[in-house]
Amino acid sequence: MNKNFNIAALVRKNIAEMEPYSSARDEFKDFGKDLVFLDANENPFETEVNRYPDPQQRDLKALLSSQKGVASDSILLGNGSDEVLDLIIRAFCEPNRDSTITLPPTYGMYKVLAATNAVANHEILLDGAWEPNVATILELQNERTKLLFLCSPNNPTGNSYSEEKVEQLLLGFNGIVVLDEAYIDFSERSSWLLRLSEFPNLIITQTLSKAYGMAGIRLGICYASPEIISVLNKIKPPYNVNELTQQRASLRLTNLDEVKNEIALIKDSKRHLTKALLEVKYVIEVFKSDANFVLVRVDDASKRYRQLLEHGIVVRNRSTQPLCKNTLRFTVGTNEETETLIQTLKSLE
Ligand SMILES: *Cc1c(COP(=O)(O)O)cnc(C)c1O
Repeated sequence: MNKNFNIAALVRKNIAEMEPYSSARDEFKDFGKDLVFLDANENPFETEVNRYPDPQQRDLKALLSSQKGVASDSILLGNGSDEVLDLIIRAFCEPNRDSTITLPPTYGMYKVLAATNAVANHEILLDGAWEPNVATILELQNERTKLLFLCSPNNPTGNSYSEEKVEQLLLGFNGIVVLDEAYIDFSERSSWLLRLSEFPNLIITQTLSKAYGMAGIRLGICYASPEIISVLNKIKPPYNVNELTQQRASLRLTNLDEVKNEIALIKDSKRHLTKALLEVKYVIEVFKSDANFVLVRVDDASKRYRQLLEHGIVVRNRSTQPLCKNTLRFTVGTNEETETLIQTLKSLE
């Protein structure tokens, strides 16, 4: 455990001092009971969504709690993990004073959200093996570096960070370590959720947008100590997760076999794609991926990107990211889509 970590010293003063808004449904929670609800100015006629949703999403959290082995008071849900990440920055970073650290090449939203909140962001590049430069990060930190964003498996590189390095950062970083596990369900590694209680400065974010196949409903999940969760709960909009999202997410989480089956198919498809890519003559390197995409270095990324588009295939050109010159990121689709991609790549001159 990090001895220098003190959550009270990290929360912004105005947020520590504020009274949270109490919504109608916060004050009266017993939804299931046969009550007459005249408290929230809703339309009483039944449309299945005429009532406000549960602001604490208790049914959904109970499901996640039992599946992940994490208590409900260690869970916060958001309108996608992007909302959760924004809440974290707003809770802990004083605009125009505090700062965050990100490790490019990585997910672009951390930096955008920091900038939106007038929070400076320090970038420390990953090393040649796409691993965090632990010593450089720890040397840079001061009392204003409140958050360190780690993404593992990392987007766009696809690798998971070494457990030893993540642990060194958790023990040595005095602010909060936000570990984005958007792709964890594709990885052979286990989630850091298993060790959440060991690290009071750890926030883990996950999402239903990738492996769970529900990008359209926008559900992001945040796991942390009850102390951190209660700070985030203070500032979250009361009805940030709508009723339809809560229902569809619950349904999907009760059909985990379906999800696991799809993940297995995607991993098969990825193995096939990875092997085939090595046979494409202008492919220089295929990076090992723990996620549902593969980053590939080619001879001329802009040219290959354009050629693919002419064949109706949309991929992501990551060449503007640091250390990613001439790279393309391919999302793993169905076997059929992968086959189309492979045949097209092989046909290009
Ligand atoms: C796709 C992605 C997300 C997006 O999460 P939402 O829950 O859809 O907002 C978060 N982090 C990373 C690294 C991603 O690649």
